[in-house]
Amino acid sequence: MGSLLIKNVLLDGKKTDILIEGNRFGSLAAPAGTVADTVLEAEGMAILPPFYNTHTHAAMSLLRGYADDMPLQKWLTDYIWPFENKMTRQDIREGSRLAVREMIRTGSVFFSDMYFDIEETIEVVQEYGMRAAIGVTFVESHSKSQQSEKLDMLRHWVDPTGGLISLTVAPHAIYTVGPDLLVKCAETARTLGMKIHIHISETRHEVDDCVREHGTTPVRYLDSLGFLGPDVIAAHVVHVDEEEAAILARRGVTISHCPCSNMKLASGTFPYQMLRAAGCRITLGTDGDSSNNNLDMREEMKFAALLAKSTSGNPETMPAGEALAMATRNGAEAFGIDAGEIREGMLADALLIRLDDERMQPCHNLVSNWVYAAGSSCIDTVLCNGRILMKDRIILSE
Ligand SMILES: [Zn+2]
Repeated sequence: MGSLLIKNVLLDGKKTDILIEGNRFGSLAAPAGTVADTVLEAEGMAILPPFYNTHTHAAMSLLRGYADDMPLQKWLTDYIWPFENKMTRQDIREGSRLAVREMIRTGSVFFSDMYFDIEETIEVVQEYGMRAAIGVTFVESHSKSQQSEKLDMLRHWVDPTGGLISLTVAPHAIYTVGPDLLVKCAETARTLGMKIHIHISETRHEVDDCVREHGTTPVRYLDSLGFLGPDVIAAHVVHVDEEEAAILARRGVTISHCPCSNMKLASGTFPYQMLRAAGCRITLGTDGDSSNNNLDMREEMKFAALLAKSTSGNPETMPAGEALAMATRNGAEAFGIDAGEIREGMLADALLIRLDDERMQPCHNLVSNWVYAAGSSCIDTVLCNGRILMKDRIILSE
């Protein structure tokens, strides 16, 4: 892996040359005359960290716009599940490809996925050179032999990219996975040093069913099983009380907040202030294209900030910089990826943003423009692990 020099780029308000050596940032102020294998002219562009999308169902991009504007249960049982039952491996590959292209073009270099026939998704991710944590999904309705196949896959996993792709153990949710299998999933993940990806307390319905069946709420139930820990990435976490927030913080659970999906399915209002005050690590996810209906993390930042302000009745809640951190370094940190900031020594993941776009002008505050005003079409270049994935808005691997 060679070196890459980004010339005349705006970093923290100053024009500079940035040298990437191998897959890490070498110097953020390379001296004049620095030579490199590749030179990227970035006059008129700013460098910012890219996005780390912590909750997706990539192949569901095929269901974009297929069923909208209806209650969750009807949406799932009458539309989503029947559609999914007809999906072939080839469909999953094409759905994953559409999602990966969409993610790169909207500035994401990483996604944490949960779906089926993951071999197809893994190959697409590898082809495009981005990062991913691919969930091996467990649901109770799978046969014992399917489940042991999945456990085998986890045990024998070798990352074909040498560092970009990992597997997670992904029990779908408490209403699709029973207690014994939940415990088995957690034990397997901990033996293998993998992350655990699960949906928790997405809807009021889920909480009510849990109380009826287990006599307590989802977070308390999972904690009683010994399931919760710093390796758990919990998607949604909409319906929790203060004590549950404290449990999640104490166990070091990472939360993947999905504001667009929650609002579109009217699942409830994410208790941002309460979870933040409890000390939880909060990241951002888009959820699938079927309930969002895109994978644009820049949009997700804006929705997260507006939702937090509107529900707290306080415009000071979630300032732009906080929304940006949730979408970038918080997500990278949660998955142990040494990236998410433009800093010497860190993995060289970055976006180059066109400042001549009308929505980036005038530039009183770059982060404000980026979070509240921009669109993903302002992204010119996407770098992942020291490699250029997109330049002049063209994906290079194609
Ligand atoms: Zn989901």
